[in-house]
Amino acid sequence: MVKSGLACCAFTMVVLATLAAQNQPNAGKNNPVTLKYLGAAGWEITDGTTSILIDPYLSRINGPPPPGGHPIVGDTRRAYGWGDVASPDVAAIDAHIQRADFVLVTHTHYDHILDVPPIALKTRAAVIGTESTENVMRAYAVPEEQLLTVRGGEDYQFASFSLRVIPSIHSPLDHKRYFSSATAPAGRKAPLTLEQIHPEGGTLAYFIRFQGHQILAFGGMNYIEREIVGLEPDVALIGAGASRKEIYDYSGRLMRDLHYPAMVLPTHWDNFLAPYSASQQASVDALQSFVQEILAASPKTKVIVPKYFEAIPLETAVR
Ligand SMILES: [Zn+2]
Repeated sequence: MVKSGLACCAFTMVVLATLAAQNQPNAGKNNPVTLKYLGAAGWEITDGTTSILIDPYLSRINGPPPPGGHPIVGDTRRAYGWGDVASPDVAAIDAHIQRADFVLVTHTHYDHILDVPPIALKTRAAVIGTESTENVMRAYAVPEEQLLTVRGGEDYQFASFSLRVIPSIHSPLDHKRYFSSATAPAGRKAPLTLEQIHPEGGTLAYFIRFQGHQILAFGGMNYIEREIVGLEPDVALIGAGASRKEIYDYSGRLMRDLHYPAMVLPTHWDNFLAPYSASQQASVDALQSFVQEILAASPKTKVIVPKYFEAIPLETAVR
């Protein structure tokens, strides 16, 4: 008992020391930043020293489709229902996630959060998200010291970046019929069913000031306009799935409100129910209308359709 207590204490001290180090003022100069698309709404943003993940989801299970969506025809993998426990794909996580210092979660849906507990336990990254997100972390015994609960409106300084948490809203799925105000409750113990890790718990976006860049990251196809006016990111990760078409002047208002970002990277546009090896050509084809919308509203913006795990370097801070 004493030994395990000491081990627990030592681990806690390591986590606290890590978080304390992350809170030291940044004295360095700007280092090159790269972004990698992980599929779904997942990204890695790193300067080679600090690694920030957004909604990392690598398991890509044959899970239940979102409201108004359809299951994949011809997928021979096990199909999961809402009442099933889905195990994260540890091999996929290990293949692509070597380290992380922070994991930012936009909302508690399985295509955003299923892999976050094992990633947090593996990397000891701080997990930033809603109460719903943090309660799922607690169910999987992610240490409390790693959990930074936010509700939107915070503007936090860390050692190498600062982070403004942007109140947002979920994609208008199922032709605007989607609605959820559910929050994952405290006190549950893993393993959780897909339904239990799927209470949205509110939706956030993140504005990251990092190495001279300002990166705005959405996790879906909606936003609260008054919360984003004047942010002026040079890089914007913008939800580009079909449900954006339910929104009035989605891309036009974004480009004007954000003052025409230099680079737009579409996110949450692929078919996340399919494995990485499946063709995404239909999704890439559908994405072309999004690219045209952005360019019509902001002709000088560079729109890059990301390939999985391919580094997108931001060579110089353009603002
Ligand atoms: Zn969602």
